[in-house]
Amino acid sequence: MSKSNIEWTEYTWNPTTGCNKVSAGCKNCYAELLSNRLKEAGNPKYQHGFDLTLHPNQLKIPFNLQKPTIVFVNSMSDLFHERIPLQYIQKVFEVMNQTPQHTYQILTKRPELVVKYNNQLNWTANIWMGVSVEDEKVIERIELLKNTGAQIKFLSIEPLIGPLVNLNLNGIHWAIVGGESGLKARPMQKDWVVDVREQCIAQKVKFFFKQWGKPEFNPNQNDPTIKYGHQYHAKGGCMLEGKIWRQMPIKNEQLV
Ligand code: SF4
Repeated sequence: MSKSNIEWTEYTWNPTTGCNKVSAGCKNCYAELLSNRLKEAGNPKYQHGFDLTLHPNQLKIPFNLQKPTIVFVNSMSDLFHERIPLQYIQKVFEVMNQTPQHTYQILTKRPELVVKYNNQLNWTANIWMGVSVEDEKVIERIELLKNTGAQIKFLSIEPLIGPLVNLNLNGIHWAIVGGESGLKARPMQKDWVVDVREQCIAQKVKFFFKQWGKPEFNPNQNDPTIKYGHQYHAKGGCMLEGKIWRQMPIKNEQLV
């Protein structure tokens, strides 16, 4: 487990690593890039690179966190990958069930398996379930998410690579939007972001704008958050029409 630079969480916990690509959002997967780098660097946890690997020795780590923490589960994998046995997913859930002081954020591109396993998982209130939605081709993931028992349901709209119109956000509590970063990043248009934000406002969904991805994608070159050292610096900056959007589906709407 390690402290995270991701703006919407505090720690990452990876009881599995590795994955394989399922849709356009995976094209420039950072987890793949980082896993391969860590393998080359000789990190024993990544000896299999980006091949799916279970790490049962990492399961108990959340018990060691001293204070209530927001934890992103599997930043380097997908907990609902088809090769992870249900029994192992249940073990991950047991740890989350036994540590209600922490908030867990699970994100998947495979919600059909969440639905399949749903009744065999204990959805305590501290478990937030999210799906990635990068373009209109995968919006059915949102409907599948609605059929799960998670009490907080969220969307990670990152990288946003196309317009998302007429979203039905009934039953969704939170949406994070972000542009792609990295060498081969695909540009995100301002209209796409504004449109999602307006749909969130209209449907009372908390909205978090994470980043433009690259400074050249940011329509406001004077955005102060482009600069390193700004309190809310993010890749490419994170202001949208002059405002920083960091709403959260928790009481004070801020990371603790
Ligand atoms: S599902 Fe996530 S972790 Fe897996 S390849 Fe796609 S982007 Fe990477």
